[in-house]
Amino acid sequence: AGKANLGPLVGAVDQGTSSTRFLVFNSKTAELLSHHQVELEQKFPKEGWVEQDPKEILQSVYECIERTCDKLTELNIDISSIKAIGVSNQRETTIIWDKYTGEPLYNAVVWLDLRTQGTVETLSKRIPGNNNFVKSKTGLPLSTYFSAVKLHWILENVRKVKKAVEEERALFGTVDSWLIWSLTGGPNGGVHCTDVTNASRTMLFNIHSLEWDVELCEFFEVPMTILPNIRSSSEIYGLMKAGALEGVPLSGCLGDQSAALVGQMCFQDGQAKNTYGTGCFLLCNTGQKCVFSDHGLLTTVAYKLGRDKPVCYALEGSVAIAGAVIRWLRDNLGILKTSEEIEKLAKEAGTSYGCYFVPAFSGLYAPYWEPSARGIICGLTQFTSKQHIAFAALEAVCFQTKEILDAMNKDCGIPLTHLQVDGGMTNNKILMQLQADILYIPVVKPSMPETTALGAAMAAGAAEGVGVWSLEPEDLSAVTMERFEPQINPEESEIRYAIWKKAVQKSMGWATG
Ligand code: ADP
Repeated sequence: AGKANLGPLVGAVDQGTSSTRFLVFNSKTAELLSHHQVELEQKFPKEGWVEQDPKEILQSVYECIERTCDKLTELNIDISSIKAIGVSNQRETTIIWDKYTGEPLYNAVVWLDLRTQGTVETLSKRIPGNNNFVKSKTGLPLSTYFSAVKLHWILENVRKVKKAVEEERALFGTVDSWLIWSLTGGPNGGVHCTDVTNASRTMLFNIHSLEWDVELCEFFEVPMTILPNIRSSSEIYGLMKAGALEGVPLSGCLGDQSAALVGQMCFQDGQAKNTYGTGCFLLCNTGQKCVFSDHGLLTTVAYKLGRDKPVCYALEGSVAIAGAVIRWLRDNLGILKTSEEIEKLAKEAGTSYGCYFVPAFSGLYAPYWEPSARGIICGLTQFTSKQHIAFAALEAVCFQTKEILDAMNKDCGIPLTHLQVDGGMTNNKILMQLQADILYIPVVKPSMPETTALGAAMAAGAAEGVGVWSLEPEDLSAVTMERFEPQINPEESEIRYAIWKKAVQKSMGWATG
């Protein structure tokens, strides 16, 4: 039989905190043709520590690529039609490896990791001049969240890394850099680069000049020789060195939240999306203006889709724990067998029955930035069941989103009229309805929820020298929308929100007494 001719295809690696996926899209319609997904292990070696094995991450990428190519072949689709590959990744997660052997020198320190709480306290006492030194250059508050702090800790505490740096064998990268370097050949000619969106989350990058910042590198005591080269989010970085897609250009790179913004076509000033994965991230495009928040939001690079294209910025509300709370109910409490089961439990309950769950497992991010917060479940009675706790966990995700949406509305001046959403959790219809009720605006979800991968594919397909994707709306004709309208009255949700705020106050200061 002849192979189906669909025109040019584009692949995307979506390397998230909980899983890795490889997806292949038709560049003419944005239709998802095939994909493969592998769940990843997260290691919690000590209280507050979160690590992953960089080798396992890389292996999962190869496995997803090979399996997806097998599936395409079974569908009679010619894999030589894949003209480019984009990478989207969990951000901030910090990896150091040996450039001669390709071996990681330490586990990946995951963005959620809290080991640097003490490092942050020490560093914040050393900030030169005014307190704005870091924020004005990076758009970020000094926090355990960002790579520079993790890197400072590793350089100080891991002898093997210290030694490799002295011997000029060490390279640093966020997950995008680790993957692109490895996929383009590793020790045999691998390209050591990152894009401006990922760089903007390291806390070593000046978001105005779009370069590594000498003063920041001095402040965090990071040698600039280990840093990757900075590139735009859409250009050919190198070619796949091995596997079924050997020779295909890697030509798109975006941090996952930027990729989702692109995949949701939020190209206009004021357009926003909220992604519900391990954490929850609301980004609002502010165009070529760098807007600084007065309400605990971050200023970050949204994208730069080509070497000669302008850079666009975003305001971001980051919530550390969203889907991770579902995984915790599954893995730590064992009240779920699969994440999907939460929907059934929540439906049986229909309410949290006065139970509130603040999942501050990694402190609280936006809008509080309070590392000393810890998780609490409160309002329990004899009547409380696992169903009520499941419901409260979903409600927590919605309340946290309301807090960042409120902050966003204050910073932007013009309230959002609806919320565009995506991410693994948005398959949960109860969650989506609860979210519409709690925000009291419609929640709009694309039928194809893999917008992160789509954004990375679009960036790769649009790159100079590839040119199979034009970033015009008609290229997304396969995408339709599902809407969730608010159904309860706003007073009721205001009362619940007020109690939530009380619970949040109780969660703060826990770790410091
Ligand atoms: P990431 O990109 O951070 O790896 P994903 O977007 O893949 O995350 O979403 C996975 C997260 O969503 C997991 O934490 C999982 O527990 C949660 N999740 C998946 N399906 C559901 C569901 N039906 N209801 C609630 N949470 C879910």
